[in-house]
Amino acid sequence: MLVFTNQPADPYQKICLEAGADAYFEKNGDLNDLLLRLAQWMPPLPINEKLRLRALNRLDILDTPEEAVFSAITRLAAAVLEVPIALISLVDEERQWFKARFGLDIRETSRTVSFCAHALINGELLEIEDASLDERFADNPVVRGESGIRFYAGIPLVLPGGEVVGTLCVVDRVQRKLNATQRMTLKVLARNVVTELELRDRIRILETEVALRHEAEIRIMHLATRDPLTGLPNRTALMDRLQHGLKSAKRDHTQLGVLFLDLDRFKWTNDALGHDVGDALLQVMAERLTALLRESDTVARLGGDEVAILLPALHHADEAMQVAQKIITAIALPMSLKGHCVQVGCSVGLAVYPLQGETEDTLLRHADLSMYQAKELGGNQYQVFSEQMNVRAHERMALESDLRVAIESCQLELYYQAQVSLINQALTGLEALVRWNHPRLGFLSPDRFIPLAEDSGLIWALGLEVLDQAVAQIAEWTRQGLQVPRVAVNVSPAQLRDGLLDAVVATLRKHDVPAAMLELELTESALTSDGPAVLGLLQSLRDMGVAIAVDDFGVGYSSLALLRRLPITTLKIDRSFVAELASNYQDIAIVEAVITMANSMGLRTVAEGVEEQAQDVALRVLGCDDAQGYLYSTPAAVAVATSWLKSLDLATPQVADCLLQNA
Ligand code: C2E
Ligand code: CA
Ligand code: CA
Repeated sequence: MLVFTNQPADPYQKICLEAGADAYFEKNGDLNDLLLRLAQWMPPLPINEKLRLRALNRLDILDTPEEAVFSAITRLAAAVLEVPIALISLVDEERQWFKARFGLDIRETSRTVSFCAHALINGELLEIEDASLDERFADNPVVRGESGIRFYAGIPLVLPGGEVVGTLCVVDRVQRKLNATQRMTLKVLARNVVTELELRDRIRILETEVALRHEAEIRIMHLATRDPLTGLPNRTALMDRLQHGLKSAKRDHTQLGVLFLDLDRFKWTNDALGHDVGDALLQVMAERLTALLRESDTVARLGGDEVAILLPALHHADEAMQVAQKIITAIALPMSLKGHCVQVGCSVGLAVYPLQGETEDTLLRHADLSMYQAKELGGNQYQVFSEQMNVRAHERMALESDLRVAIESCQLELYYQAQVSLINQALTGLEALVRWNHPRLGFLSPDRFIPLAEDSGLIWALGLEVLDQAVAQIAEWTRQGLQVPRVAVNVSPAQLRDGLLDAVVATLRKHDVPAAMLELELTESALTSDGPAVLGLLQSLRDMGVAIAVDDFGVGYSSLALLRRLPITTLKIDRSFVAELASNYQDIAIVEAVITMANSMGLRTVAEGVEEQAQDVALRVLGCDDAQGYLYSTPAAVAVATSWLKSLDLATPQVADCLLQNA
């Protein structure tokens, strides 16, 4: 508080200062003179005040408790310089605050009355021998008041960056003067204070660095144990939690559920709608699962669309089944993904400790097996592990090793199914369908072993064997002087790779069969998967004269526009559309649309699975070119197929009747 008044200093000044004013100014004189006195009285601001305050704040020392190192310095200063008061004063924006004080009770004063604020300015020792004689301090309450301060000596505390944060100062109630040694001592002690402050700063930097590094480590750990796309824990994290979960389950005698989840037809979504949509789908799946489960449960992504879930501390296995059902219901709700409305099902396999496995490995394997079982049963359901699944898995493994032998030892045999013209009933083609004459299990249908061959990589060798047998058969029939229609051979997606073209060329050459007599049947997903590579391969085959058919058309939901870019010749309409053709209007509309579009693209249409006369009639009306199915012939062994071809020699166009008689 400053007092400006035209009352004479005597006696009012004393009264005001004693009442708590910081200074008393008579203003009856010249205004300029008053301002000058005021400016002199105010503690000046250093030029780098802002930087200085920032440096002081960075030290993070204001209002901290007393510390022995600093208190020792003030005690030493007082003793060596023989003064009653020694202070480490830090000059804050509006106050000076004492980090250490010897001989003084107060912790802070206002900056305006601070001697130290003046000492900041020139960066050197400020020594005031008698404050009552100094214009700047004569009015100062500590000088005029009870404390009666006369002497002040302060050494600025200068940080390495040049910022003066305060002083080390000594104060006395009598007038005095320091000698050279005393000044030196004060300087050395002040340097100690600065060193101490610097040390604090360095420790603080170190601490931040350590904290940052710790944070980085946590982040790296997170990355190492999290799946980046969904933020779910990954396989590493799963194994860790499974291990812990099992330990607790054993200790607490509770049960632990392990669920394996796999989306149904995820690959299709990915291929048809793009990886963006596939990624978004996985993210929504992760969100739904997380929302559904308890905090203590674990949802981990194992890769692709495969997810494992741990349900710890179960009291009854039924709880796990309820969760499985809830999951299936939640995933099946429609999702809006980047402008597409997508609905997917999922298959869930379940194994519960200790009923269906006691170790991590068995639990995971059993949950996985059950998931496959759920998938085989049509998906969108859960299956609990049973010992029977293990038996089946072993059977599959045994079958796989048998298949290896079968391919080399002529256990594979081709059957042929006729394709018939709906216009004139002529025989337009034969589809080669493989059978396995298993020495123990008897005749096996391809559904039993083709998926196995695809999973195990044996499909390549199997495919070559089928191709060779089919082309050899064309050559043999030709040699017998028979009129041979085009023969179609099924090709699995896994066979679509570089060597296929060479294999086809070599096989045709080996048996001296023209390429135009061969047709390859591929599914939509195989055709539309790996863009350019497949396109080149198909084009080369087509250039040679090999016909290309799209098998099971319609079930992959791929657009015809997508197929337009591919060099295909034939569309085989899947039998699921043909099944209810005679009664289901929707199927009629779909088949009609497919045929119309196929016609416009110059493709031959073949309807699959024609079993009834009514379907035959409907297809004829809709303008389908050819048909294949039990109505005309079941797949037949070579001997039977040969007899068809022989009867064709009679040049009767009514093959259908002829086939039926022969069947
Ligand atoms: P696909 O290519 O769709 O073959 C047609 C399947 O439908 C054959 O079953 C055939 O017997 C059956 N089928 C024919 N007409 C009718 C009918 O009127 N009604 C019904 N319900 N079914 C009919 P198959 O021979 O058991 O073959 C099953 C699948 O195995 C084939 O389906 C094909 O995808 C695959 N496959 C067969 N041979 C080979 C092969 O040599 N290589 C490869 N990669 N896959 C093959
Ligand atoms: Ca086929
Ligand atoms: Ca088919």
